[in-house]
Amino acid sequence: MPESAQNHTTPQPMLIGGHWVQSDPPRTIAVENPANKGLAGRVYAASAADVDRAALSARDAFPAWRAMPAFERGGALLRIAGDIEQRMEDIARTISTETGNALRTQARPEAQEAARIFRYFGGLATELKGETLPLGDRLLSYNVREPLGVVGAIIPWNTPVELAALKIAPALCAGNTIVLKAAEDAPLAVLKLAEICARHLPSGTLNVLTGSGEVVGAAIAAHPLIRMVSFTGSTEVGRLIMRAAADRIAPVALELGGKNPSIVFPDADEDWVARGVVTSMRFTRQSQSCTAGSRVFVHESIFDSFMAKVAAEASKLRIGDPLEEETDIGTLINATQFAKVCDYIREGLADPNAKLLAGGLPSSSDKIADGYFASPTIFSYPSNEWRLAREEIFGPVLVAIPWRDEAEVIAMANDTHYGLAAFVWTKELKTAVHVAHSLEAGWVQVNQGGGQILGQSYGGIKQSGMGRECSLEGMLDSFTVRKNVTLNLAY
Ligand code: ADP
Repeated sequence: MPESAQNHTTPQPMLIGGHWVQSDPPRTIAVENPANKGLAGRVYAASAADVDRAALSARDAFPAWRAMPAFERGGALLRIAGDIEQRMEDIARTISTETGNALRTQARPEAQEAARIFRYFGGLATELKGETLPLGDRLLSYNVREPLGVVGAIIPWNTPVELAALKIAPALCAGNTIVLKAAEDAPLAVLKLAEICARHLPSGTLNVLTGSGEVVGAAIAAHPLIRMVSFTGSTEVGRLIMRAAADRIAPVALELGGKNPSIVFPDADEDWVARGVVTSMRFTRQSQSCTAGSRVFVHESIFDSFMAKVAAEASKLRIGDPLEEETDIGTLINATQFAKVCDYIREGLADPNAKLLAGGLPSSSDKIADGYFASPTIFSYPSNEWRLAREEIFGPVLVAIPWRDEAEVIAMANDTHYGLAAFVWTKELKTAVHVAHSLEAGWVQVNQGGGQILGQSYGGIKQSGMGRECSLEGMLDSFTVRKNVTLNLAY
């Protein structure tokens, strides 16, 4: 990337065919710093013609990339991991500046995770093995794992570099080439990642575009040269991607929204589980996470004392300048998201059945009111039948619901069109396993609330999505296709 492009007002170029280019026509969009509403940077708004250029470059790069021994492709990914480690702090600060995510609790761990993702998939390259069929000495029949070709990837803004890495590394490892679109709100750190990747990859293997979802995302989803689309984002847009891909029977991997239940049993060690529930709610990422445990079902016998502890834990977290080391919680991403979260909180405050246990509307007199800051907010509500308990808020609003009976709580937990993550808190092994098996979710954690682990086949069911990407089998399922070859040796 040219040195001159590295300031706030000069637009950052996009990566197409190994070149750093402007969009055609050269239109730009501003990237806001959500902590102070100032300018974090500027990027180009790609057009459908740019998607076309990128897809053609990826198509042209594909034969040589797929022909390279997998071991060498893995080597390139390992070198990228090493370079990310060298640039860690710069990447982390950029993530923090454009997303408002706190540097210490979020952005730095995210940059570290991106390096780990490249390392993990770099090491897996030689595991792209096939199978042979036992058909006797006269027939040699085997399956090979082939790449699909050009993969399209569309990512959101909440963990931009980690999600870019989770698309780029497995797609390239499997021998595909890729056209990736960064989110409008958080493209700057992804361009830095692209710059690192480009140093270790043949031209055209990775193409990174910036711009709007309606233009660039839609053009990727519908492009005839793009053989598969990997998307992370909202369920609404996921549906559009799937519809566009259906026209040319292209497979999709969709990681969509969630309204994830967290079930607390009466045997819980209340202090310890309260901390776990706060972690699982991802308050330190302003709960802008599709796996946030945003509906907590607490047994009625401990409801009041337990929720008081959760409220106290959540209130301890420090909100402030995302770049300051002591800050735990930064800002929401933008004005739209801020207004949406405030509307939900207003609705909660106005509902006579809801009780506010922590937080509330952001105060305009706060010294942090320059940015989109919102405090962890917790409501209790008597049932799951409430808009705040049913819709994905993607902000720090937790709803706590009491339960009496195990079958009833499982039914409430499953009464949602989502099925991404779930959390169970109990010391009773039998209960934990039974509940985990009864929950309709792609991922259930028992007595912990952390993030995804590399090697775990992560993904949703129901309207939370389809496909798995975070693991060896995820890479094989999403980014390769089996081909059978049968040789008649009797000839
Ligand atoms: P979020 O709510 O996290 O912003 P979105 O689903 O709106 O989730 O956006 C996720 C990604 O999808 C972004 O990169 C966005 O630009 C892109 N996107 C938005 N609308 C479309 C669309 N109609 N077609 C393809 N991609 C889109």
